[in-house]
Amino acid sequence: MRKNRGIIRVEQVDITTLRVDAIVNAANRALLGGGGVDGAIHRAGGLAILRACEALRAERYPDGLPIGEAVATPGGELPARWVIHTVGPVYDQDRNAEALLAACYRNSLHCARELNARTVAFPAISTGVYGYPKGDAAQVAVRACAQWIGDNPDALLGPDALEGIILVAFSAADAHTLQQALDAVTW
Ligand code: ADP
Repeated sequence: MRKNRGIIRVEQVDITTLRVDAIVNAANRALLGGGGVDGAIHRAGGLAILRACEALRAERYPDGLPIGEAVATPGGELPARWVIHTVGPVYDQDRNAEALLAACYRNSLHCARELNARTVAFPAISTGVYGYPKGDAAQVAVRACAQWIGDNPDALLGPDALEGIILVAFSAADAHTLQQALDAVTW
């Protein structure tokens, strides 16, 4: 368990600067960019990401990406190879916000494994304009990742074994919140 525990860690950093296999984007259902971390990722990654998102919209998600699901595009000009787009719940609006937020983490990790990503970084999904309280969201994030690792032990084996899940905080206060949630989780 100690080894599994070390896989999840907290970093205070701009997610667009991370040289990891995959970063997760807190996208919106339209998949065509927006504010917050979504805007930052599209700005830093360039048009290749937007073009791939437009193709996904046209071919697979004409009505938009459902909340809680995840889909990958190349990382364009980002240091990360892939961007995994997921849509978090709007806290005051979507019923089952907790289950939907957990699904974002779970489905993004599934997507990362399909890409053979060894390192994946998450922003604090839904905690910006979507209004999810940061402490609660941190607990959901940590539990969902820990549970996914427990449910998918094979992901930790072999040459493409998952090595790191980075929970990215954009401020020192957010890093503290995430670290507290990580320290509190029981495995
Ligand atoms: P949502 O619409 O899912 O609430 P936001 O982008 O508004 O998404 O915010 C999600 C989280 O991402 C917030 O906690 C915000 O502080 C954080 N964030 C914004 N920009 C970045 C960035 N460049 N790197 C990492 N985290 C970021």
